[in-house]
Amino acid sequence: MSTKRFENQVAVVTGAGRGIGEAIAKHLAAEGAKIAVVSRTESNSARTAESINAIAPDTAKPYAVDVADFDAVQKTGDQILADFGRCDILVNNAGITRDTLAMRMSSEDWDVVLQTNLKGAFNFTRAMLRTMVKQRSGRIINISSVSGLMGLAGQANYAASKAGLIGMSKSIAREVASRGITVNVVAPGFTETDMTAVLNEDIRKGAMSQIPLSKFGTVDDIAAAVAFFAGSGAGYITGQVLAVDGGMSM
Ligand code: NAP
Repeated sequence: MSTKRFENQVAVVTGAGRGIGEAIAKHLAAEGAKIAVVSRTESNSARTAESINAIAPDTAKPYAVDVADFDAVQKTGDQILADFGRCDILVNNAGITRDTLAMRMSSEDWDVVLQTNLKGAFNFTRAMLRTMVKQRSGRIINISSVSGLMGLAGQANYAASKAGLIGMSKSIAREVASRGITVNVVAPGFTETDMTAVLNEDIRKGAMSQIPLSKFGTVDDIAAAVAFFAGSGAGYITGQVLAVDGGMSM
């Protein structure tokens, strides 16, 4: 019987109730990892955990928390560590958009996107890092966006949060490298999920015209890149950004 590459490892995946996070959780579970499925909405994290457990019993546990809430995340992190005993892989994937032109953007539109996408990733990293340092191993993978690399009109808040994730990742990568922990970034391009389902035909056409591979990505394209950074083959890679965007940002 072949051993799976994440056997005996524990992965925490935020925003795993739907979309890209759900695919990441399922991909890591299929390769043997135990999964803490984190989402804002309890029914969504429960659904993902149930579908993982239907294939591999006792593999996943659901948690509901707003990643933007520092204290609540520390509590959830403690609960995850009490339930699983360790954390080998942290995927900060939870994210939202509130797209509008900067001229019309409200203070609330700015704050909620920065708090969720950037501070949320900091909060979960903070909650897991001490344990990874004690373990002297760990993989942190932050989900940025092509928008953080290139900027996209209507996304000043979102692009700032996603570019901020890259700077934060590189800083933490330098802080924890000596403890055997790597921090890397996956930057998806347009990917078929609920987030892009709301785009109108004009925006989809405009996006498509900028993608050399002429198609949107799938959630599995992103999950495969995350699994690469989590795997032993990526042990000598830290502070890097991998764009999975059909060539859009090259
Ligand atoms: P999605 O389908 O809208 O799902 C977002 C997930 O994040 C959901 O599970 C949601 O929780 C969770 N979430 C949102 N706010 C949260 C909060 N405050 N606390 C906890 N969880 C929260 O999005 P997606 O398309 O899969 O995107 C996943 C990540 O990839 C995001 O960071 C996004 O910015 C990034 N990305 C996406 C694309 C794309 O084209 N789709 C492109 C580039 C980057 P609930 O399910 O409980 O609501």
